[in-house]
Amino acid sequence: MSLPITASALAEGLRTRQFSAIEVAQHFLQQIEVRDGELGCFLTVEPERTLAQAQMAQDMLDRGEGGPLTGVPIALKDNLITHGQRTTAASKILETYIPPFDGDVAEALVSGGIPVLGKTNLDEFAMGTSTENSAYQVTRNPWDTKTSPGGSSGGSAASVAGGLAPISLGSDTGGSIRQPASLTGTVGFKPTYGRVSRYGLIAFASSLDQIGPFGLTVEDVALAAQAIMRHDHRDSTSLLDAALKPDAFKTRSVKGLRFALPSETMGEETEPGVRTVIESTVARLRAEGAEVDEVSLPSLNLGITTYYIIAPAEASSNLARFDGIRYGPRADAAGADAIISATRGQRFGHEVKLRIMVGTYALSAGYFDAYYVRAQQMRAKMAAEIDALWSKYDAVISPTSPCVAFPIGEIDSMSLKLMDFCTIPANMGGYPAISLPAGLSKGLPVGVQLMGPVMGDEGVLSAARGLEQLLDLNPMRPPNV
Ligand code: GLN
Repeated sequence: MSLPITASALAEGLRTRQFSAIEVAQHFLQQIEVRDGELGCFLTVEPERTLAQAQMAQDMLDRGEGGPLTGVPIALKDNLITHGQRTTAASKILETYIPPFDGDVAEALVSGGIPVLGKTNLDEFAMGTSTENSAYQVTRNPWDTKTSPGGSSGGSAASVAGGLAPISLGSDTGGSIRQPASLTGTVGFKPTYGRVSRYGLIAFASSLDQIGPFGLTVEDVALAAQAIMRHDHRDSTSLLDAALKPDAFKTRSVKGLRFALPSETMGEETEPGVRTVIESTVARLRAEGAEVDEVSLPSLNLGITTYYIIAPAEASSNLARFDGIRYGPRADAAGADAIISATRGQRFGHEVKLRIMVGTYALSAGYFDAYYVRAQQMRAKMAAEIDALWSKYDAVISPTSPCVAFPIGEIDSMSLKLMDFCTIPANMGGYPAISLPAGLSKGLPVGVQLMGPVMGDEGVLSAARGLEQLLDLNPMRPPNV
């Protein structure tokens, strides 16, 4: 049986009984079986669990219940807690951790009748830009399996690009949804900070972390976002007005929209091929009656420096809970201190240790003012610079990533960090931002990013639909999928 590829078409086929939720789940489980040996998207797949959830979804459909995505399966990044299902954050320190509860997102999926296909690979604790920091496996980009799908949500991105899942969820602290979306030709959306509960997201940098979806079209990510955006009293930063409003599903014509293009994102650091695609996107927008102004946001140049103080500082505190006593495996040693240091020493990977040390240093008594406080000042300055744009512009447009998919194993960790240049600002100010395919360079996808004001998620999604219609590239698939 051949099934449609988008989540919205699958949902429609399920509602009109062209196929069942079981058939849909079986199809994707089979795709995983056939292709995941090569791609390495999934860390945990439990077909029986998925099929039981699909049966529940079909029961909901049969009773005329459920929501817009009932029966459409989803893949979850393995830092999202799922009750009774191993959740590792791609770390050896959580190798055997079976959570005794569902996070808010997993709960929302259960109540929406959205079966979970499995848990996807990531950089350990979401620290990375290539998914190479996973303690378990590399994930390959379906566009070219010698290249990385980006990261840290590389497994979630590659699963959608490769046809192993119609939609998936990732988390985005400095770009981990948008950058892999850009590198895999998928759409990736980071909602406004506080519109998806972080209860049950294994914390990396709590003031920056946000959960969001991947899909093949803007409509699909809007549907997936709608399923998980809600207020949750268990997350103290959850917004009361979190639910996605129907405006998100309107296609806003790009005519009359006002875009700001920061010149800093189109400099030498951005590959010529990427610049060419963004320039032609801008030209098409202008031809269609949109206004695109080049602006300067000088604080962007300090974004990476600022982020790589704040994120490790928060991580050093968040990761203190992994002591070998409360969660996961325990090293064999005598006494609490010895157990803690042996477990952490043996089971955290290199990048995680590096960040814990940098973060601890930045927070230590003698250096707190020099590093952490100054980074917070810089963060506020950047947000103020960006906020000043919203009276004149509907969205900031830029490349998502300065480069296309790069070869696995060849990029050093410093160069990987520099790739976060265009995505970090959205996390700094809590802004909603989306990446969608804008073209190809060297035969590989290039993403364009739209970022809007806090709580402007609906506007960002509807403008992205307008741009998607204009570019007419979605659903974009790799040649052999
Ligand atoms: N690449 C960034 C980092 O390594 C962002 C990761 C993320 O968004 N989780 O921290």
